[in-house]
Amino acid sequence: MSRIQENYIKQLVLVLCIVVTIVPLFMYWTIPILEQSSALNDMILLYFASFASITGLLGLIMLFWQYVLGVRVVAKFFTNDFVWLNKVHQNIGIWGMLFVFAHPLMALISYGAYWFQLVLPEVWTPYDIYIMYGKIAISIVAVIWITSALFRRNISYRWWKRIHFISYLVFPLVYMHSLNVGTTLLSTNLRYFWYLLGAIYPIIVAVSILHHLGFFKRKGTIIKKEHLNTEVNRFTIELERPINVFPGQFIYIQLSRGGESHPFTVSHIVSGTQIMISPKKEGKFTKMLDTIVTPKKVFVDGPYGVFTAPAFEVDAPIVFLAGGIGITPFIETSKRVAQDKVLFYSEQTYTNAPFREELLRIYEAKSSQQKGTKDADIVFAITKEKCDEKHCEEGRIDEKMLRKYLKKSLGGYQYYICGPKGFIKAMKQLLKSQGVRRQQIQTEEFSL
Ligand SMILES: Cc1cc2nc3c(=O)[nH]c(=O)nc-3n(C[C@H](O)[C@H](O)[C@H](O)COP(=O)(O)OP(=O)(O)OC[C@H]3O[C@@H](n4cnc5c(N)ncnc54)[C@H](O)[C@@H]3O)c2cc1C
Repeated sequence: MSRIQENYIKQLVLVLCIVVTIVPLFMYWTIPILEQSSALNDMILLYFASFASITGLLGLIMLFWQYVLGVRVVAKFFTNDFVWLNKVHQNIGIWGMLFVFAHPLMALISYGAYWFQLVLPEVWTPYDIYIMYGKIAISIVAVIWITSALFRRNISYRWWKRIHFISYLVFPLVYMHSLNVGTTLLSTNLRYFWYLLGAIYPIIVAVSILHHLGFFKRKGTIIKKEHLNTEVNRFTIELERPINVFPGQFIYIQLSRGGESHPFTVSHIVSGTQIMISPKKEGKFTKMLDTIVTPKKVFVDGPYGVFTAPAFEVDAPIVFLAGGIGITPFIETSKRVAQDKVLFYSEQTYTNAPFREELLRIYEAKSSQQKGTKDADIVFAITKEKCDEKHCEEGRIDEKMLRKYLKKSLGGYQYYICGPKGFIKAMKQLLKSQGVRRQQIQTEEFSL
């Protein structure tokens, strides 16, 4: 079975698992039956109560899956495609959470309560206290939802992550709330299903904490550090256990137990136990990496990702489009992929372009193997320097540059784009404007 097929099957299993956890809710959900004698107003209130019940139950299931998919070491059993996983996580977060918000609104209407009671702290009776749990949970979800769905781009990655951590309080609050005041749970066997979810949740939290502390990860040692230019380093990591990494995949690196974990593409696969990563200095973590003294013990998590997997499975000529450090997934992939390929590598200067010599060697070797097929080539698109070298083009990658080097029609290739957000957006727009279909374009963005 190919890697892509295996991944599809895993993703299908995830979708089925989500469906399986939703089905019991609908089995126990009752919709009020309209009786001729009932007053219309009473019926409407009953309907609101019934929808309050199902939205509350659905909300908790969505929350449950958010936790499952938020823990890498658990989520990897469902997929290796973290771009897809991230989209699922975001969509459940954005749309699934609407159930969480709809629940108290419908409950308020069905009780004929005033809207301000939603925010009023009432703790006179045990019932009030369980309602209060729900109110606190909703406030936390609102903060997370606003910071993730609306203001994600205005908040630094670290602060966004810290805010995200408080979401771990939401499940216990919603859980206690639902078990003690939820009419469906109080009156049906659905509560046994709830007990099961309640038992799984602490396991997920424990796994997440242990993972953060360096458990379920490979131990390794950075044995060599090379400065490729003023901004990019290359680190050779010796692992205690072999790793089965494919070209284009990435790993997470953690420098100490409980420290931050950051993703980096495996730029070079030296052997089963030796890999290289090539981080560019960006912020706190990558600057810290720049100062480490070798040998340095690290924790390695992964490999993850399926970015360049289709290049090994789809039989069509390939175009790699790399923006700056986005070159890393293409080094090992270029060495190993058999089809005709062209690499466009956008950099500010030719002289400082990391991996220049190595890439020239790879592509020149391929060119001589594939004599007559003009496509096998490499193009440096240099944006901040004059360059009259053989493989140089001045300026950004544009339609003219693509047409100059790609001998077939632009629709005849599969494209792989990697680099900063702006680069990916510009390249996608360029390709789409030239009639390239979405299915022919794979992207990897260097932020999750
Ligand atoms: C799949 C993948 C592969 C990557 N491969 C490489 C590579 O080969 N070489 C390279 O130089 N960079 C790579 N990156 C980017 C690298 O992870 C970030 O540059 C690094 O984490 C920045 O951390 P910082 O503290 O130095 O900078 P910060 O200033 O804190 O972060 C800069 C930006 O990096 C992103 N980022 C920060 N922390 C994380 C995190 N834990 N997870 C995901 N994104 C984060 C955020 O978008 C943030 O805005 C990759 C990223 C991803 C998602």
